[in-house]
Amino acid sequence: MFSSMIIEKFQQQSTPFYHYDLGLLNKTIEHVAGLAKKYQFDIHYALKANSNEPILKLLKDAGFGADCVSGNEVKLAAKVGFDAKSILFAGVGKTDKEINIALDLDIKAFNCESVQEIEILNELAAAKNKTAEISLRINPNVDAKTHKYITTGLDENKFGINQADLAQLLQTLKQLNHIQLTGLHFHIGSQITDLNVFKGLCLRVNEISNWFKEQGINIEHLNLGGGLGIDYQQPDEHCIADFEQYFAIFDEFLERKHDQQVHFELGRSIVAQCGNLITRVVFIKNGLNTNFAIVDAGMTELMRPALYQSYHQIDNLTASTATADKDTEKVLYDVVGPICESTDCFGRAVELPESKRGDIIAIRSAGAYGEVMVSNYNLRDRNSPLYTA
Ligand SMILES: *Cc1c(COP(=O)(O)O)cnc(C)c1O
Repeated sequence: MFSSMIIEKFQQQSTPFYHYDLGLLNKTIEHVAGLAKKYQFDIHYALKANSNEPILKLLKDAGFGADCVSGNEVKLAAKVGFDAKSILFAGVGKTDKEINIALDLDIKAFNCESVQEIEILNELAAAKNKTAEISLRINPNVDAKTHKYITTGLDENKFGINQADLAQLLQTLKQLNHIQLTGLHFHIGSQITDLNVFKGLCLRVNEISNWFKEQGINIEHLNLGGGLGIDYQQPDEHCIADFEQYFAIFDEFLERKHDQQVHFELGRSIVAQCGNLITRVVFIKNGLNTNFAIVDAGMTELMRPALYQSYHQIDNLTASTATADKDTEKVLYDVVGPICESTDCFGRAVELPESKRGDIIAIRSAGAYGEVMVSNYNLRDRNSPLYTA
């Protein structure tokens, strides 16, 4: 994965920093774009996974739209050059200020998550003498079979409108003259690796979409959200997610009415594998039962393990180059950061070649939900990312 030239380059940088392999990102984008064309699916990239501008530019140039979850993401998408008519705005708690930003930019659609939100959107659009196109985010009560902190499509979750409320909602919509309902939106969770879940989603969406048809409502687009998982266990073997099978499932099981557009909002599956957090061993400490490799990155740079108990592969790049051909003995380390929290740990009992102060460590598959969550807790420094082709 890492050439000795790149490792050399890492050695010279001040750590920790994010490294992005734009070559891999481009390969991923081409693959997704090819499949989207084959099936006539529209891809909207979910900015919240990673909103670095060089990355957004590549996605925009590939013809993807933008899926945003804040006013600032909407502004950034427009600034980077995404066509306003390809920008979607989702989120359970859009403020008036954020809604106005999106109305002023004439974005494609608001993915609305509650009746009150739609009423406020109607008022704000009326004040500007505009009509806002909306998609209803419907909670389909489909279990994504992923970590419960990243499950969003169950009745107990805060997201979306419950099916039981839809009939009443349609009555309300008749009174709202500045709202045009054009789409249905679903997003049931993230890091979904059991692809059968998506078949279940399709079947549920077919039922709901038929119900709207029976009510005489023409739905122009179906938005199936994101959520495709990646292989955190084997990032080198599976550096591109299984988009083929993913899209094939929707092609087979989703009923598209005449002319209906199908949208996806993919985040993680596009950008996760191209990013790595590069860090250095500060100290090795031999504890009573455990050896600690203390590195200069912490939960302030990559929060996922602390937040979702997530797994990231960890490689010692310095030691693997030095011992490339030898059968060196492996040592178990708890790889931990410097932050004053016990959850500030990237992995327990990680098998690494014997490691020493100064070694360069790569925390893999960190391109999604990594750098976007950086905080300056403990007044941490922040280094710029490194991009390579
Ligand atoms: C986070 C999010 C996505 C992207 O999810 P991934 O799992 O990263 O593909 C898509 N749609 C909405 C509404 C989201 O909140």
